[in-house]
Amino acid sequence: MGLYVIMLGPPGAGKGTQAERLAKRLGVPRVSTGDILREAVSAGSDLGRQVQAVMSRGELVGDALMVEVVRERVCRPDAAAGFVLDGFPRTIAQAEALEALLDGRGTPAVVELVVPEDELVRRLSARRVCTGCGVNAWAADTACAACGGRLVQRDDDMAEVVRERLRVFARQTQPMVAFYRDRGGYRPIDGTRTPDEVTAEVTRIVTEHRS
Ligand code: AMP
Repeated sequence: MGLYVIMLGPPGAGKGTQAERLAKRLGVPRVSTGDILREAVSAGSDLGRQVQAVMSRGELVGDALMVEVVRERVCRPDAAAGFVLDGFPRTIAQAEALEALLDGRGTPAVVELVVPEDELVRRLSARRVCTGCGVNAWAADTACAACGGRLVQRDDDMAEVVRERLRVFARQTQPMVAFYRDRGGYRPIDGTRTPDEVTAEVTRIVTEHRS
């Protein structure tokens, strides 16, 4: 049996930060579909060419392609003991495909970070990412605190695209959250607290789930 965690929540809720911390603590990889796709776009691979336009509009990449991307990633040896999913699943079809993929391997802990929409818009418009190491930073920072790298705004964090991503979340991803509410292992938590407070609670939930 492996250790599987699904981080749910809208864009800007803090999934990436929390998934990264948790994965480090558990010694399993964080699987961020957004990061995988952004890397494919910068590398100019076939996958990157297929998803670039959709991503820049803030829409969702097709389910079949996403399921293949995740299947390929979680079948690698470093994910044999488990993984923390960040940004997947985003639709009911993806959740069902994941269920099939995990069949017999263990029940995932599902943690939803709950943050109101006005706070999400505020966070996303102020978010910057490091061109050196990829960590998140804020508009007020002058350089990356981790590596000193240059900070840029993600194309899809521009105001117009942020609004579309939040609409897409409400339309396509919120119903998928309801799918997990009806299953065991689901826990909503208040994502408006400090990152350290959220980490402490996520860790507690996952530890309980494990035992
Ligand atoms: P994220 O970094 O998780 O906000 O993802 C950035 C963008 O990548 C999204 O707005 C989508 O265009 C695409 N993407 C990431 N994960 C998925 C997914 N599970 N299903 C469909 N599209 C995705």
